[in-house]
Amino acid sequence: MTPHHLHATAALESLRLARHHLAALARDEAARNVWAEQLPAAPISSPAYGTRHAIGGHADPVSGRLAVEEPPVRAVTWATRWEIADSRLNGIARMFGIAQTHTLARIRHAIPAMLPATAAVLARHLVDEDALVRGWLDLPAYREPLPSAACPHCGERQLVVQTAGPVEAWTVVCATGRLCTGAGCPCEMEGAVEGVPHIWPRAVVLGAVAGAAPASPNN
Ligand SMILES: [Zn+2]
Ligand SMILES: [Zn+2]
Repeated sequence: MTPHHLHATAALESLRLARHHLAALARDEAARNVWAEQLPAAPISSPAYGTRHAIGGHADPVSGRLAVEEPPVRAVTWATRWEIADSRLNGIARMFGIAQTHTLARIRHAIPAMLPATAAVLARHLVDEDALVRGWLDLPAYREPLPSAACPHCGERQLVVQTAGPVEAWTVVCATGRLCTGAGCPCEMEGAVEGVPHIWPRAVVLGAVAGAAPASPNN
């Protein structure tokens, strides 16, 4: 697995967890039956005021009436966001010739066999999807500092573990954001790619620490 494959896998695992939260919200919403059938909010037509939307300003008499009679209507429900996320993910799968059932699992299985350049493009798409869903949910990234280890590249102790997915899939990145310079880069990573953010399987970084430098008790 090259850094491209690792970045794609890390983004996919993060997206998988974010989608898990999104699906739960959509399920709760459906269970509470909160206006799901009425949305997306249809414009409300009135001869006096023309076409209005249910969500309006203070001066909007239609909106004022709705606020009194009904809970505020959300223009986008979790269910519609789930559908958007799903159709976007299926669109990505289509782009890579991947069948669109159990899409995320199929993409995950397809990653190791991808050419590095293909994995790089996929990684960018998955990072975008992850950011989109995470933004809706206001979810922080699944990351934890790893102060006990020095960066295999720059030596600074600013490593971060990306903890989405199974432990075997966890990866480590350097928070300094220094890019790889490819062959001959001090990271000595197998399959190092110039211009790509450094990323290592967690086991590689921890293994290097265990073998080379005893952990400081101060960390
Ligand atoms: Zn570094
Ligand atoms: Zn490097």
